[in-house]
Amino acid sequence: MREIRIGDVSITSIIERDGPWRAPEAMFSAYDPEIGQRHLAAMDPEMFDPVSGKMVITYQTFVVRTPRHVILVDTCTGEDKGYPAPMDFPKQPWVDGLHALGLGFGDIDYVFCTHLHIDHCGWNTRLVNGRWVPTFPNAKYVFHKKEYDYWEAATARKEQPPGDVWRMNCLPVVEAGQALLVNDDYALDDTVTLTPTPGHSPCHCCVNIFSGGQRASVTGDMMHHALQCREPEWSTIFDTDPVLAAKSRRGFLSSVADTDTLILPVHFPSPTVGRIEADGERFHYRFVRP
Ligand SMILES: [Zn+2]
Repeated sequence: MREIRIGDVSITSIIERDGPWRAPEAMFSAYDPEIGQRHLAAMDPEMFDPVSGKMVITYQTFVVRTPRHVILVDTCTGEDKGYPAPMDFPKQPWVDGLHALGLGFGDIDYVFCTHLHIDHCGWNTRLVNGRWVPTFPNAKYVFHKKEYDYWEAATARKEQPPGDVWRMNCLPVVEAGQALLVNDDYALDDTVTLTPTPGHSPCHCCVNIFSGGQRASVTGDMMHHALQCREPEWSTIFDTDPVLAAKSRRGFLSSVADTDTLILPVHFPSPTVGRIEADGERFHYRFVRP
């Protein structure tokens, strides 16, 4: 994604992987091929690869630089986690991307996780001398407390596939004293706040950035693809509560439709940033192009 500015804040992204990834019928249990193909044919060409029949899905971290802080929102899958293919992405592109922005691990002040799934908290930690330690030594990490508690309990019940995401990516941050376990109404300051959008995970939140009278919102996995703007009730097979996820999605999309709010969905390919346009009971995702 090209760097964008709102007020005195800049936002860009580090891409871990991108390209065609998953067929829509394998993602949405309510998928209807006739309806889906009609929507996809009318959509921006970046969103779908007709050759493979797969949606284009990016894994990325947003880098938010305010006058006071350098903030990462969601940290991809990370390195050395031992995940099976296809989740074993090479680590170098993400590290190179961070360095290309003139940043090292020690420069990050805050890490926000929209939720604690495998592809949103990976770089939270690194394996050093056989131990998982926080990757960003000077950062505070903002986790929703009930989201954290849920995955702790799920891990205790051995219900968290794949791998051991909470134990590798979350617990070491808390043990190091670098976690802020927060509630729905948490605000870092006037610039960075949360909007709860539960359903994909128990306490998924969007991360808002306000500056100069403008708003941008990192929407995490509130939606994975622009098809879910056309069909907000199409929740994914990965959602903890698909009905609640659809309710949160419709509510959020309604709240930002036909406003200047810039939307930053983690899994949308470049140019990524867009606005929501209302269309009766549905919505359009409109990329903001340079
Ligand atoms: Zn995700």
